[in-house]
Amino acid sequence: MLNLILFGPPGAGKGTQSDKIKEHYGLVHLSTGDIFRYNIKNNTELGKTAKDYMDKGELVPDAVTIKMLESEVDKHREGNGFIFDGFPRTVAQAEALDKFLATKQTEITKMIALEVDDEELKTRLLERGKTSGRSDDRDESIIENRIQEYNRKTAPLKTFYKNQNKFEAVNGTGSISEITERLKAAVDK
Ligand code: ADP
Repeated sequence: MLNLILFGPPGAGKGTQSDKIKEHYGLVHLSTGDIFRYNIKNNTELGKTAKDYMDKGELVPDAVTIKMLESEVDKHREGNGFIFDGFPRTVAQAEALDKFLATKQTEITKMIALEVDDEELKTRLLERGKTSGRSDDRDESIIENRIQEYNRKTAPLKTFYKNQNKFEAVNGTGSISEITERLKAAVDK
């Protein structure tokens, strides 16, 4: 199996690039943000829990997120592996993912980080907010909070995967297709 984590701050282009990479390698794409938004739209219990946190730009609690992710992995066993987008976002989530995949006799192949500077991220998110219908993209203070959550809780995961020799960094600025090519090169390395 090929199990990839596409990593990066909010607005780095994880969703856009996951679609390209998924097609190329025949993977199942699991985006925790998309799954939470789907649950909010359908007014499920999970959606109600997640909404309070997402509206503020905070992370949804680990226990809720991990349980949700594990059940999604179990639902989708059809591909050559998975591309995880927006998960893990904390060290606790990464540890849980390692343990869970081990019970399936598999593991993370690589964690690929899309690198984009903070100013460019803010510009992209505000631009996306004009059309995405995502309220968390419209308010500058919520965007700031998401970037802070990333720097505080998520960025430390780089060290976690470096220690496992699974970390690759990719420049996330340029055209969509240029970045896709860089990502493929990092996967195939
Ligand atoms: P972005 O990468 O642009 O921030 P996402 O769609 O990935 O957007 O996530 C939107 C929101 O969903 C996050 O701000 C957070 O509240 C919640 N979320 C998504 N993934 C996770 C996760 N792994 N752990 C906790 N919360 C999450």
